[in-house]
Amino acid sequence: MVRCKQRCWRCKKNYVLADSRQRFVLCYDCQKNELSKEVKGKLKKMFDISEEFYKENIFLRDIKIKYLRFGELSDKQIEAFKRVVKEMKEKK
Ligand SMILES: [Zn+2]
Repeated sequence: MVRCKQRCWRCKKNYVLADSRQRFVLCYDCQKNELSKEVKGKLKKMFDISEEFYKENIFLRDIKIKYLRFGELSDKQIEAFKRVVKEMKEKK
């Protein structure tokens, strides 16, 4: 996965580190409202991680927003989310 800095397509101000194939990237500030909604259901605990992680990583933001919108995730998405969080924790 090639990661590069792209400008947020909504505010056109902040840069986001994202997959270069990803077209419509949003920065943390633009997703903040949606991200702050309460997570319910069985994955509540998984999303209970440091806000810093969501600030740093667009993938984590996207997964959380998907779950908030649709109320479910595939096993693959859950696995990937956990893996990324683990990697970020190890880096600290
Ligand atoms: Zn933005």
